[in-house]
Amino acid sequence: MIPSCFSFDYAEARSKFLAATRDAGLEVTSIQNEAVKGPRDADLYTDVVRIGPSDAPATLLFMSGTHGVEGFCGSGAQVEFLKTLKDREIPTDVQVVLIHAINPHGFAWLRRVNEDNVDLNRNFVDHSKPHPANPNYEILKDVIAPKDISDEALKAANATLRAFSDEHGPVALQAAASCGQYTHDDGVYYGGTFDTWSNRTFRQIVNDTCSQSKAVALIDFHTGLGPYGYGEMIIEVGPEDPAYDRAKGWWGDSVKSTVSGESVSAHLNGTIDGTLPEMLSNAEVTAGAIEFGTRPSNEVFRALRKDNWLHALGDPLSLEAKPIKKEIRAAFYPDTDDWKQMIVARGREVIDQAMAGLSADAKRL
Ligand SMILES: [Zn+2]
Repeated sequence: MIPSCFSFDYAEARSKFLAATRDAGLEVTSIQNEAVKGPRDADLYTDVVRIGPSDAPATLLFMSGTHGVEGFCGSGAQVEFLKTLKDREIPTDVQVVLIHAINPHGFAWLRRVNEDNVDLNRNFVDHSKPHPANPNYEILKDVIAPKDISDEALKAANATLRAFSDEHGPVALQAAASCGQYTHDDGVYYGGTFDTWSNRTFRQIVNDTCSQSKAVALIDFHTGLGPYGYGEMIIEVGPEDPAYDRAKGWWGDSVKSTVSGESVSAHLNGTIDGTLPEMLSNAEVTAGAIEFGTRPSNEVFRALRKDNWLHALGDPLSLEAKPIKKEIRAAFYPDTDDWKQMIVARGREVIDQAMAGLSADAKRL
């Protein structure tokens, strides 16, 4: 049953999510991104389902597709959650909000970024202030996001990146490439210069669903980092923040903080997790991303760079796009039964732990 919860493309993922919602007797709120379309002129939506009392003292936000193409993973977990809802014990003081495909354009076009080439999980900064600087990206931009993606050119670019890593260390290289940059809209991990549609939509959903809650948690499903099928729970607060102890209390020592350098991820600028506590200043917020491994990191990075080139300099509708799209889909979505089983098992674990933790917090607060 589990593999059948996962999909071939965004359209199928959305229809499975809507069908599972209907079968569970729940209402869906569909928010269309009217400015853009998917392949074959398809309409694009973020879909939201609320489970449990809307005035609950605690809310769990369970989200997929922040990084478009990574949405296959979270969507499958959400569909499985809906299909098994009748057998689950959800605490009566917890509302669960499923947010399906918060970046539907990236999901539909098999891109990590959105319609503006923006990485949504770098976009949550105050755009009226100077953007975070990333001087090492400036130095390395032509080799991180090369204008020539032939094998020879990528080999030469990789040699330059290796030399940087030898001199400054692999952590510095990972941060340069992935922590976010706000200066090159044709580059990778670009954070943008305005609040994107998905950013505004997420804020609206949080506003509509969480304002009653004293305790709020977010689990945002991601893929592409770490060992195959393993799900690392990542938080972006250090031990000085009360959310750090809460997260460790709920999810145990498997929680890794980007602040203390424990995580497979670099510490990032402009993330959803980092912003949610500011958006809900009257609630106790515990926000985490669950990051599932797919392919070796060099393969994931190569797929990202080729896809970036395709949309910046190539033609996503041409024949040459086909192998690039196949490669990026495989890099973020293994599409194998064992991987899907691992996603659902680990996803269930962290969701159940968060609901239990929230319920305890709701009684205390
Ligand atoms: Zn991601």
